[in-house]
Amino acid sequence: MRTEILGVGFDDLTPEEAARRGQALVETEGFHYAVTPNPEFLLAAKKDAPFRRALLGADLVLADGVGVTYAAKILGRPLKGRVTGIGFAQGLMTWMARTGKRLYLLGAKPGVAELAAANLKAQHPGLLVCGTHDGYFSEDGPVVEDIRAHAADVVFVCLGAPKQELWMVKHGPASGARLMVGLGGSLDVFAGIVERAPEGFQRLGLEWLFRLMKEPSRIGRMSKLPLVLVDALGERVRGK
Ligand code: UDP
Repeated sequence: MRTEILGVGFDDLTPEEAARRGQALVETEGFHYAVTPNPEFLLAAKKDAPFRRALLGADLVLADGVGVTYAAKILGRPLKGRVTGIGFAQGLMTWMARTGKRLYLLGAKPGVAELAAANLKAQHPGLLVCGTHDGYFSEDGPVVEDIRAHAADVVFVCLGAPKQELWMVKHGPASGARLMVGLGGSLDVFAGIVERAPEGFQRLGLEWLFRLMKEPSRIGRMSKLPLVLVDALGERVRGK
């Protein structure tokens, strides 16, 4: 059963439960994909049907961001908490290193995925990064073939939304991977190019504020985010 928040159904899980669900998907025959919607996703999905369908069709839908958990509270359907994409990825990698699963990193500017791979292997001894590819390619076929040729179990797809979600739906099944996870700008963080918010900010759910301090040009994009809460209030008042 999913918790519906502004048109998208979320899995109501703690980070530990999400990690177990992710592992189970990798252990299950066939292709699966996970998405990590934040408030920006919800606003975009309202106007973009293929994107909304891609979110609804995912095997795992994690609430990435306090905006989503606030909206859930306003709607009277509180979630256990948020599960950040990066936290989910870290948990999965710890398990993958232990069990010898193969990870492929897709996305970001040329050279970034390789840098991320080196850092992640240092952080998770034994982690098997079987391949990497940047996110600026014009033909999909060779990328899908590369993932298949490297026998990846898990692919972190970091092309930004909605591109990554549509890409996973369209190309995931042919890639031979068991699980793809849409992780936005995470490779830039893993590579050390973009700084992750310090723990204090994370604890308070203020990653967005940290990001805004680092990249003030995001203000235009971010100023729309409270609209998610306005939408949630509207739904609540209408008694939906
Ligand atoms: N990106 C990519 N291919 C593209 C467009 C974007 O690989 O065609 C990468 C970009 O380099 C960045 C990530 O996708 O690493 C998106 O980052 P952003 O912070 O905009 O996404 P968010 O996490 O906010 O969804």
